[in-house]
Amino acid sequence: MHQDIKKILFTEEDIRKRCAELGEEISDAYRNTNHELLFVSILKGSIPFFAELIKHVDIDVYYDFIAARSYDGTESVGNIKIVKDLDCSVVDHDIILVEDIIDTGLTIKEIKKLLYLKGAHDVKVAALLNKQDRRVNDIQADFLGFEIPNEFVVGFGLDYNQKYRNLPYIGVLKEEKY
Ligand code: 5GP
Repeated sequence: MHQDIKKILFTEEDIRKRCAELGEEISDAYRNTNHELLFVSILKGSIPFFAELIKHVDIDVYYDFIAARSYDGTESVGNIKIVKDLDCSVVDHDIILVEDIIDTGLTIKEIKKLLYLKGAHDVKVAALLNKQDRRVNDIQADFLGFEIPNEFVVGFGLDYNQKYRNLPYIGVLKEEKY
C-alpha cells in the first residue's frame, strides 16, 4: 500500500467485480432501445472506471469524452466550465454519463443539463462512488458502484492535485497529505 494512504476501501478485485455487475445491468437496460447508446466519460478521473466498465457491456455502444473544471484541491465549487467538449453529436442518443465520484452533485447536474440542451434523448449517470452526505441537489446515480462516507479518497483515477490516479485501488488519503 502507498505510504500516503490511510486505508483501502475497495481493492482492484472489488472494483472489477462491481463493474462486471454494472456492465450487465446496463446491457440489460439498453438491449432493446431504439436509440444509439453513447457513453460520455468525464475526464480525467473516470477513465479507469470507464475502461473497466465498458469491457462488461455486451451491446453496441459509442463513446466520447468531456472535461469540466470545477474542482481545486479538496473542495468543490459551484460553477463548472467545459474545458474539452464532445467530438460527436448527441442528438437523439441515449447517454450514459460516466463519473468517478458524485460529491455535491454540481458537476453532473450541469453536464446533464448541457447534454439535454445539445439534443440528447435521455441521460443517465453511472458513477463509481457516491458521497450522499455532501449532496446539494437531487442528482442520483442511475448505476452506482459504491456508497462511501464523507472522506477524501484517491486512486483508480481519483487524484489529489493530479497525484495518486494510478493506484489500482481506492483508498482514503492521510489527513496530513492535504
Ligand atoms: P461534485 O461536483 O459532485 O461536487 O464533484 C465531483 C468531482 O469532485 C469529482 O469528479 C472529483 O473530481 C471531485 N471529488 C469529489 N470528492 C472527491 C474525493 O473524495 N476525492 C477526489 N480525489 N476527488 C473528489
